[in-house]
Amino acid sequence: MADMINNEEILKTDALTLGKLIKSGELTSVQVTSAFMDAIRAKDPVINSYITISDAALDEAALIDEKIKKGELTGTFAGVPVAVKDNICTKGMLTSCASRMLSNFIPPYDATVVSKIKEEGMVILGKTNMDEFAMGSTTETSYYGPTVNPCGENRVPGGSSGGSAAAVAADLAPIALGSDTGGSIRQPASFCGVTGLKPTYGTVSRYGLVAFASSLDQIGPIGKTALDCAAMFNLISGIDERDESSAESRKVDVEAVKDFDVKGKKIGIPNEYFGEGIDADVKARVMEAVKYFEDNGAAVETFEMPIVEYAIPTYYIIACAEACSNLSRYDGVKYGYRPEGVDNLMDLYIKSRSEGFGMEVKRRIMLGNFVLSSGYYDAYYNKALQAKALIKKAFDEAFARYDVVIGPVAPTTALKAGESLSDPLKMYLGDICTVLINIVGLPAISVPCGNDGEGLPVGMQIIGKHFDEETILGFAANFQKGGRS
Ligand code: GLN
Repeated sequence: MADMINNEEILKTDALTLGKLIKSGELTSVQVTSAFMDAIRAKDPVINSYITISDAALDEAALIDEKIKKGELTGTFAGVPVAVKDNICTKGMLTSCASRMLSNFIPPYDATVVSKIKEEGMVILGKTNMDEFAMGSTTETSYYGPTVNPCGENRVPGGSSGGSAAAVAADLAPIALGSDTGGSIRQPASFCGVTGLKPTYGTVSRYGLVAFASSLDQIGPIGKTALDCAAMFNLISGIDERDESSAESRKVDVEAVKDFDVKGKKIGIPNEYFGEGIDADVKARVMEAVKYFEDNGAAVETFEMPIVEYAIPTYYIIACAEACSNLSRYDGVKYGYRPEGVDNLMDLYIKSRSEGFGMEVKRRIMLGNFVLSSGYYDAYYNKALQAKALIKKAFDEAFARYDVVIGPVAPTTALKAGESLSDPLKMYLGDICTVLINIVGLPAISVPCGNDGEGLPVGMQIIGKHFDEETILGFAANFQKGGRS
């Protein structure tokens, strides 16, 4: 049987199936890992989805094969390779956050999610490219150069987890971890035509995730299918005493997700998610997907959510405020980039931060310090917190009536490379559909739902109640089972 599965097929296979084939002995972890390593070597020089490619992956796979044979590793994903975003700490392996500032940072410890995937017996293929410190929507602000979208010539893969999404889309990893502060799992998944889950805030430990905006950051999976994301969520979630904001979560019943029936479920469609600025093709594909659910017995209703108007300012004020204090630790003293030839302490601070950070990171630090300054705190930061309370109220009201809320992931499909670097405001506006979800900590999934006129993937966003990953994964799996993508 093993001979019947060639490398080409391995690369196209979803992570859960690879896990089953390894468990049954039809494939070995070494076979699977080397197929991906060869593909990475052949294709990644162009795609640039990885910052670091592991040189230990094959040795690890061999050890894991031994343990599987002895019955010491029996998990769903034992032996399956995985890619990890470069803002998630990996012991002994560069974790650069795609920044010059951390271009020499080798963490002495693993993030909790990394410990979990290692205990499961997954093989880390490498660390994926991203926008510097996860600030951006295009993966163009990386110190290591931009990632290319495998789905469209000269298109960005989205961001900030653009490397993770592109790696899965280009068959350079069966599954990957990303992080989502304002859309960074969902939007690149949408631009690259793969599935990405942003879990409920607190369900996945942030210990070892380099902080951008701590009240918004959340780690989650990017995979080929909703079922892969469901199983990966089960693996990485769980309470962690090393993360003060971590919460006990319900594990998802993967079988229930597989057989999920949308009949009788209620879908809310916020009109504002389909308003001005949303591409006609995006609107059409998402509405066709909603129609599919309706044809299968779900009840669909539109509703008003005027608070969407405040999504972008609220998010950017909160995110920048938290970022500027989180990033104050990079001062050239304890770790990270340290310039040559400094004369005194102040010089060290100024030079290390001026030379270590890129433009977008500096812009956010300045914005954050501005909104927190004593003269403007009430006008901006306090206002944003008030808006946050109103956003929460709007979603509470919606979820009193609906099981899920559905809209697009982004107003457009993948942008042309270079388009948004010169116009950051335009880039910020592209986050309109995703940022509200982080502000109130809800779970949401990005599911491919067809293409636009140019053949670029469109993503549908399914938003759920707190801790109800199972329902949004169920909707997504139901859609994918119907042969839709
Ligand atoms: N695009 C958003 C930003 O630039 C989201 C980033 C993220 O989720 N990490 O802040």
